[in-house]
Amino acid sequence: MDDATCKQLNISAATAAKLEKLQLHTLWDLVLHLPLRYEDETRITPLADVQVGASCLIEGTVTAQEVQFRPRRQLVVQVQDAAERVIFLRFLHFYPSQQQQMARGKSIRALGEVRQGFFGYEMVHPKVKAADGAGLAETLTPIYPTVAGLTQPTLRRLIQAALKQVQLDDTLPESLLSALSLPSFADAVQLLHAPPPEYSQADLHNGALPAWRRLKFDELLAQQLSMRLARERRMAATAVPLRGDGHLSAQLTQQLPFALTAAQQRCLQEIRDDLNATHPMHRLLQGDVGSGKTIVAALAALTALEAGFQAALMAPTEILAEQHFLKFQQWFAPLNIPLAHLSGSLKKKQKDAVKAALASGEIRFAVGTHALFQQDVAFDRLGLVMVDEQHRFGVTQRLALKNKGQDVHQLMMSATPIPRTLAMSFFADLDVSVIDELPPGRTPIQTKLINSARRAEVERFVRRTVAAGQQVYWVCPLIEESEVLQLKTATETFENLSRTFPDLRVGLVHGRMKAAEKAAVMADFVAGSLNILVATTVIEVGVDVPNAALMVIEHAERMGLSQLHQLRGRVGRGTSKSVCVLMFAEPLSELAKARLKVIFEHTDGFEIARQDLNLRGPGEFLGARQSGVPLLRFANLDEDLPLLEHARAYAPQLIVEQPAIVRRHLQRWLPHRENYLGV
Ligand code: ADP
Ligand code: MG
Repeated sequence: MDDATCKQLNISAATAAKLEKLQLHTLWDLVLHLPLRYEDETRITPLADVQVGASCLIEGTVTAQEVQFRPRRQLVVQVQDAAERVIFLRFLHFYPSQQQQMARGKSIRALGEVRQGFFGYEMVHPKVKAADGAGLAETLTPIYPTVAGLTQPTLRRLIQAALKQVQLDDTLPESLLSALSLPSFADAVQLLHAPPPEYSQADLHNGALPAWRRLKFDELLAQQLSMRLARERRMAATAVPLRGDGHLSAQLTQQLPFALTAAQQRCLQEIRDDLNATHPMHRLLQGDVGSGKTIVAALAALTALEAGFQAALMAPTEILAEQHFLKFQQWFAPLNIPLAHLSGSLKKKQKDAVKAALASGEIRFAVGTHALFQQDVAFDRLGLVMVDEQHRFGVTQRLALKNKGQDVHQLMMSATPIPRTLAMSFFADLDVSVIDELPPGRTPIQTKLINSARRAEVERFVRRTVAAGQQVYWVCPLIEESEVLQLKTATETFENLSRTFPDLRVGLVHGRMKAAEKAAVMADFVAGSLNILVATTVIEVGVDVPNAALMVIEHAERMGLSQLHQLRGRVGRGTSKSVCVLMFAEPLSELAKARLKVIFEHTDGFEIARQDLNLRGPGEFLGARQSGVPLLRFANLDEDLPLLEHARAYAPQLIVEQPAIVRRHLQRWLPHRENYLGV
C-alpha cells in the first residue's frame, strides 16, 4: 500500500502491512473486499422468540454470575429479559474486566448463536456490550476475511472510508444495466458491505442476487476487455512474415517413413498461413497424445528456417528436451541444419559456445527447457518460438517467453483440450488448430486394472513382454507429499525389480538425477539396451519409444486423470499391441474409483479431459495455485456462463465506442494483473 493511500486512510505502517497480507493494496481492493457473512445487530430478539441454531442479539439484566469449575473453569452469566425469560452466557476464557462488565444488575446486549443447554438456552462466547441506550445498527454487520491483529471494526472502518473516497460512479451505460437487470455498481457494493436488515443470510449468499450478478458481470467484462485488448495489441504489432520456399520441408517430408495424416496437413497449413502474416502468431496446436504434434512442429520450424530465421523449441522437462533434440537431429542432420540442445548438463564452456552460436546465428534451431529463454540467451534472428506441453509451464516461465518472444511467432502444443468456457475466457486470445485423428495403423492400447495383491501376475506378464523382444515402463508410486520419500520409493522399486528379474537389464530415472544421468539412461532405453525402465512420473510427458509395449503403473489410484492418460500414451506408439496395467491398492476413495473407471473405459483424450473437468472443476484445470494466474474471484465459469456470454458480446462494442470507460473499468478490476492475463 503506498504512502498516499495510507495517509488517505489514516493508518499506520503496521496496519498497512496487515492489509497487504490480505492482498489489499489500494482503495479499490478494499472496496472489492467483500464480507464472508453478516451478523444482525439491527434488532433485539425477545428471549421468547429466539431459535436454537440462529444467531441473534438479545438484551436483558444480569441476574446471576458465577465462576464454575466443572467440567472446567468457566464464567457463567444469567441474563433475564423484560419478559422475565432467561438465558445463560458461557465464557471459557474471560478477563476480570468482563466479569465487571457483566456484574449482577447490569444491563447488557449479547450477540451470538443460541444453543439448547442443560438448564435452558445459552450462548457460548457471545459478543457483549453494555445496553447503554445506544441505538441499534441500521444495517447488517459485515464479517470480513481478515488476518491476526486486524479487527473487524478496523476493517469495517477502512472499507467504509474507501467506499467514500473512490469514485463509485458507473462504468456501464444505463441501457445495458436495464437490459441485463443489473443494479448500478455503487448500489451493488454498498448493498453487499452494508445490507438492510430485510435481507437474509441466504439472500446474501445467493449468487443470483442482482448485486452479485453485477460484480460478476463487471469482473467477466474486465477479463474480456483485457483479452481483447491483448489480441488487438498483437494484431497491431508487426512480426516479420515467414515465407519459406518449401525446399527444406520438402526434403524432410520425402525422408519420413510415413505420410502426414490429413489432420496434420490441415494444422500445418493453418500454422503456415499465420507465419505468413505480418502480426505475431499465437496459436495452440492441440492433439491427443501420440497424434503426431512433433513432426508438425518440425515442419513449421523449417518454414522459419527457409525464410532465414531461427526457431526454438521449449520443453517442460530435461528428458523431453533431450528426446526432442535426438528426434530433430535425426530429421535435420540430413538437411545440414546446425542445431543445439541448450541442456542443463552442459559444462559452462560448452554452454557458452552454444550461446555464442545462437547469438551469431550459426545455430539455426535450438531445443531446451525454459533455460532457453533466460536473460543471457540471445538469438540472432529468432522468428518462431514453440512450446511443447504448454499447460505444464507456470506463469513465470510463460512470461519469460513472452518477453523474449515479443513480436515473434508463437506456437504452443498441448495434449490437453481447453474446455469451451476457458476458451471463451482465459484463453480467448489463442487461435487453436486441432489434430483430431491418430496416425493410421495404431493398435489400440489395452488397459487392465489389477489389484496390487496380484503383483506376481503382473511380473509374469513383464517377463512375457520382454521375451517377445519388447520393452517395459514401470512407473513407481507417486508420493506428492515428500520428495525424499518419492526418491526412496523409486530406488526401492528399482532394487526390488532388479532382484525379481536378475537376468534382465533394469534402468532407473527420476526427477532428482542430474540431467546428464537422466539423458544417459533414456538413451539406453531408446537404444533398446534396457528391458525395463523404472521411472517416476518424469516420463509422463512426450517421451516416445515405439518398442515399449507395456506400461505398469503402481498405485494408479493416487494419480490424476490427465496424468494417467499421458503416462498410458507412452505405449501404443509402435504397430504391436500394447498394454497398460493400472495397479491399485484397496481401499479406494469414491473419487479414485471414478477416475479409474474413466481411464479404463476411455482412450480418447478429449473425453477424458471432459470427465476430468466434471470431477475436478476448472480451477484445477488451470493449475492456478501453482501458476499464479488470477482466477476469477466472484464469477464461476460454469454457473455464470450466460453472464460470460453477455460480457463477451459487449466487450468489442465498448472498446470501439467508449475507450475512456474501458480504461476506467480495467483500472478498477485489474490494476496489477494486466500483465498476467495475456500469458
Ligand atoms: P505427440 O502428439 O504426443 O507429441 P509425437 O509427435 O511424439 O506425438 O508422435 C508420436 C509417434 O507417431 C512418433 O513416433 C511419430 O514419429 C509418429 N508419427 C507422427 N505422425 C505420423 C504419421 N502421420 N504416420 C505415422 N506415424 C506418425
Ligand atoms: Mg509430444
